[in-house]
Amino acid sequence: MVICFRSANAVDPAIERAIADAVDNGCLDPGAARRLIRAEAPLLLLLLEAASAVRERRSGRTITYSRKVFLPLTNLCRDQCAYCTFVRRPSDPRAHTMTPEEILAVAEAGRAAGCKEALFSLGDKPELRYVSYRHWLAARGYSRTIEYLRDMCALVLERTGLLPHANPGVMSEEDLALLRPVTASMGLMLESTSERLLERGGPHRGCPDKVPAVRLATLEAAGRLRVPFTTGILIGIGETLEERVEALYAIRELQDRYGHIQEVIVQNFRRKPDIRMRDWPEPTLLDMLRTLAVARLILGTTTAVQAPPNLMPDGYEAYLLAGLDDWGGISPVTRDYINPERAWPHLRELKARTEASGFQLRERLAVYPDFIRRGQEFLDPAIRSRVAALVDPGGLVPQEKELW
Ligand code: SF4
Repeated sequence: MVICFRSANAVDPAIERAIADAVDNGCLDPGAARRLIRAEAPLLLLLLEAASAVRERRSGRTITYSRKVFLPLTNLCRDQCAYCTFVRRPSDPRAHTMTPEEILAVAEAGRAAGCKEALFSLGDKPELRYVSYRHWLAARGYSRTIEYLRDMCALVLERTGLLPHANPGVMSEEDLALLRPVTASMGLMLESTSERLLERGGPHRGCPDKVPAVRLATLEAAGRLRVPFTTGILIGIGETLEERVEALYAIRELQDRYGHIQEVIVQNFRRKPDIRMRDWPEPTLLDMLRTLAVARLILGTTTAVQAPPNLMPDGYEAYLLAGLDDWGGISPVTRDYINPERAWPHLRELKARTEASGFQLRERLAVYPDFIRRGQEFLDPAIRSRVAALVDPGGLVPQEKELW
C-alpha cells in the first residue's frame, strides 16, 4: 500500500521508512514505536496518517459499538488497586453481590432497550480474602465466584437471550473452559507489563492478580481454548512510555500465536476523589492519540482498537484520527460502574459525532464479525446459533434493527 505523507518534510528518513513498513507489512519496528510514542509535529501527523491508513484497511469507514447492560456481579475483590473506585470491603454498606433476581431484572431491562450484550464485570476472587463472602457463596451452593458467575451467565443467556461477556479477573484454563459454553467472549485487561507497579507505593501494591505474568498466562490460556478475547492497556498509572509499548508488543505476540484477540482497549486513567491516586496526573488527549496510533501500528489489522468515549468526553472523536475502530460497550440502561462519575454518551450523540467525522456507526455483538465467521472454532454450538440469529451477512446487527 502506498500512502502519501504530506507532512513528511522534516522527518528522519529512517523513522519515515519504519512507518511506511508498518503500513505495508502490518507491524511496527519496536525502536520506531519507542520514538513515535513521544512524537511531536510533524512526526505526529505522519503517525496519525499511518494509523488511519491501517484502520481504513481493516474497517473502512465503519466504527462499531456494542449495546450492552453492565452487571457488576460483586464489588468485593481480593486486590486493592490504587486507582479503583469500584471495589468495596464487606463492612462497607455499599458492598454488594447481585442476586439472580437482581441480575435478571437488569438483563431484562436491557433486552427491552434493545441490548444484545450482558457484560459481567466483578472483583477478582473475593472468596480468597473474605470469610463472610465465602459464607454467602456457600449458602447458595458455591465455593468459588467463577461457579456462581457461570450459572448467572447461563441464566441470562437462557432467560433473556443477551450474550454474556465475562470479565472476572485472572482465570485458569479450567475457569475459561467452565465459562466458554455460556459466554460469547471474555476479557481481561493486561493493563501493563511493568513489575515496578507492584512495588511499595505503586498502584498494584498488594494485588496478586496484577502480576503481569499471571495476566499474560490467562490471555495465553484463552488462546489455547479458542476464546474470542478482549484485552488492553491502562495508561497513565505510573508506567513509562517504554513499558506501555512493551505491553502492546506482548499483546501482539500472543495475537500472532493464537489469533484470538478481538479487541485491544486503550484506557486512560481518570482521577476520582475517593481513590489513593486522587492527585495523580491524568493522560492528556494528545497522549491518548499517540498511544492509540502506536497501538494501531503495532497491532496492524489483526484486531480492533478501542477507547472509551466517556473517559474523554470533550474530544473523543479525535481518536478517529488515530486508528480507533470501536467505541466499546455503551449502555442505554446502566451506568459505567468502573467510572461512575463519567456517564456514557447518549447513543444518538455518539452516532452524530462519529458521522460528523466522516464515519458510520454500526452495532456489533459481544463477539466480532471475524470470530462469528470462524464460529466453528471460536463459539460453542448453543452460542453460535444465537449469534447467527442476530447478525447480517457481515456479522453486524442489521441496520434496520439498530435503535438510536
Ligand atoms: S482488580 Fe479490579 S476490582 Fe479489584 S481492586 Fe483492582 S481494579 Fe478494582
